Amino acid sequence: MSAAPLLRQVFGFDAFRPGQEEIVEAVAAGRDVLAIMPTGGGKSLCYQLPALMRDGLTVVISPLIALMRDQVRALTEAGVAAAALTSGNSEDENAEVIRSLNACELRLLYMAPERLASGATIPMLRRAGVRAIAVDEAHCVSQWGHDFRPDYLRVGELRRALQVPLAAFTATADAETRDEIVARLFDGARPQSFLRGFDRPNIHLAFQPKDGPRRQILDLATARRGQSGIVYCGTRAKTETLAGALNEAGLTAVAYHGGMESDHRRAVEARFQREDGLIVTATVAFGMGIDKPDIRWVAHADLPKSIEAYYQEIGRAGRDGAPAETLTLFGPDDIRLRRSQIDEGLAPPERKSADHARLNALLGLAEATGCRRMALLRYFGETPEPCGNCDICDAPPEIFDGTEAVQKVLSAILRTGETFGAGHVIDVLTGNATERIRQRGHDRLPTFGVGRDLGKAGWQAVIRQMLGLDLIRPDPERHGGLAITLAAHPVLRGEERITLRRDAMRPARPATVIRT
Ligand code: ADP
Ligand code: ZN
Repeated sequence: MSAAPLLRQVFGFDAFRPGQEEIVEAVAAGRDVLAIMPTGGGKSLCYQLPALMRDGLTVVISPLIALMRDQVRALTEAGVAAAALTSGNSEDENAEVIRSLNACELRLLYMAPERLASGATIPMLRRAGVRAIAVDEAHCVSQWGHDFRPDYLRVGELRRALQVPLAAFTATADAETRDEIVARLFDGARPQSFLRGFDRPNIHLAFQPKDGPRRQILDLATARRGQSGIVYCGTRAKTETLAGALNEAGLTAVAYHGGMESDHRRAVEARFQREDGLIVTATVAFGMGIDKPDIRWVAHADLPKSIEAYYQEIGRAGRDGAPAETLTLFGPDDIRLRRSQIDEGLAPPERKSADHARLNALLGLAEATGCRRMALLRYFGETPEPCGNCDICDAPPEIFDGTEAVQKVLSAILRTGETFGAGHVIDVLTGNATERIRQRGHDRLPTFGVGRDLGKAGWQAVIRQMLGLDLIRPDPERHGGLAITLAAHPVLRGEERITLRRDAMRPARPATVIRT
């Protein structure tokens, strides 16, 4: 099976993280690989996924029993035949692992390097038909490092005995450690190395709240007339209507989505590859096979699914290293849609909460009050400086302590029973005694009219930022009425302060009314 469907079906991820795709391809192609990725960058996927793309068994050498346990549990839950041989297992457990190993039932076998000290281990692995070796925390082979594990030296022996490709992973990138890993694990043979940082400094990053979204996309496309670009849309229908609007404005655009005949899709891909200045309005189906170095701009007409999907999609711009522009639009409807897609999906509860966390990371980026690239790269484990090439570095937004405003909203939501949408909450805050407000007696609440200063547009902006910070969520069980989340509790208790952007508070056009 190929990588993308496995990524989705087995691991439940909608996109690769930076660096993963290239590493997965090299490992799956059977090359020796040395990959350096920051902690939390997603190294395990880089050997787990290739293990499922080929037949037979992959042995994973890992130094920590707890880590092996976690990974085996997660893989087993996902339906992958994985096991660990460790001193932490009971004798019975290890006997069962060896039985399934001899029966060739396993796809991934984890073991600590100390196991290799037993003379029986290597012959046993040879009989089991091991196809590849993966080494986690490969810097443990370095005698000068803090984590030296003498038994890691036996991994080189294992590789020589089995004559199979080896992929080594570590977060430690200094040149000496790298050289030692190459010398000791690969006997000096040159592995394909992946050391690249994740930053794509030529890509300009920008986000905007939706405020006449079609016009926002048209403005960008017009400013970039004659340059190849992609506009990612949330629905198939939107790819068609947006292509129409762009063509009407005198630009050249074609739609692309998974519902089109495959011949038609191939034709669009070929045309995009060949032609200069074509705009493709597409769903996420577009891009996997596209290898065009001079895509000059990528826009998101709707918020992507996760920060990983965002990075992968904007990463299609500017592969040639020349400046490229990106713009991501987002609004409360996007947030609600993405949340309900997660809530209504069939994934188990832990996966759903991980999906919400990945969406939150993207929303945090959308509502960032500091350099966007710093927020993005920090999420992927790097420790960057302000970039000077994002909309916030270009024009730092005015920020203010929004704690009190946020507390007012939270209080209004709580006092109205967490059952109303943004419009009603804002009526309470601004003291707008509508029919519905009077009927429910909400004009007698202590919060009634406490927020006349900000006005309707101001409160809309506060609520949008609160949705982005995941302080409140529309509750699907109560017709989308706003409910407060656990993250809001410390704010309510005055234990945490919230910074908001002032620029988002300027009076909005009628198009940005929050409907809930
Ligand atoms: P590392 O070993 O590099 O420190 P892990 O392999 O443990 O990192 O991965 C860190 C986290 O990232 C895990 O929670 C994992 O589920 C998540 N992760 C890995 N790859 C992806 C991806 N493509 N999309 C979303 N999350 C991912
Ligand atoms: Zn920046």
